[in-house]
Amino acid sequence: MRDIIAIDGPAGSGKSTVARALAQRLGWSVLDTGAMYRAVTVESLRQHIDPHDSEAVARVAQSAQIRTRPRVSINGRDVDDEIRSEAVNVAVSVVAANVAVREAMVQRQRALAEDEPGGLVVEGRDISTVVFPHARVKIYLTASLDERARRRGDEGHESVARRDHVDSSRDASPLRQAHDAIALDTTGLSVDQVVEEIVQCLKNTTSN
Ligand code: C5P
Repeated sequence: MRDIIAIDGPAGSGKSTVARALAQRLGWSVLDTGAMYRAVTVESLRQHIDPHDSEAVARVAQSAQIRTRPRVSINGRDVDDEIRSEAVNVAVSVVAANVAVREAMVQRQRALAEDEPGGLVVEGRDISTVVFPHARVKIYLTASLDERARRRGDEGHESVARRDHVDSSRDASPLRQAHDAIALDTTGLSVDQVVEEIVQCLKNTTSN
């Protein structure tokens, strides 16, 4: 198993920004698993598939070639901008509640980690609970809804709250804090402060 730092939390809690800054600080790679669910959503919508058509969406997920770096693409098509569209914000939580889609994504995430020569910061909703339960450090980021909606800018308060509700109440790998994850409330903290906290957590695991 590679050196993995798992970061979970609701929309706008700071996962992507913190994961990128942390990876840069450590010289590690970063995996944005939300981008993978978003890419499957883009491709399903492009094929005019109803996000609720679980079998058709699962077929898209199972056969898709997804890259998240340097830009997000699916089946060779760059979707880096499209994955942030309003249509995707609305549909992605439905796609991500699909068990077969999750199985396909989790398998890819584990394979990507296996291929990674160095350390990896992975961010999402189920990283500590399902994908990498043996990660070296597990962090659960939170922030107030007002702060999270502010960070999400265009997405808006209601959409962020709705997505969190769907993500936390679904049957398949719902968003929740792992029993051994460290909770960090990022409200009012700078990115550097959050990164520093996580680096300290990592150092504590080394000295144990
Ligand atoms: O992190 P981001 O907001 O880009 O994630 C988009 C959506 O993808 C989430 O609202 C959630 O429905 C889904 N997701 C998930 N599991 C992950 C990462 C994201 O279900 N590990």
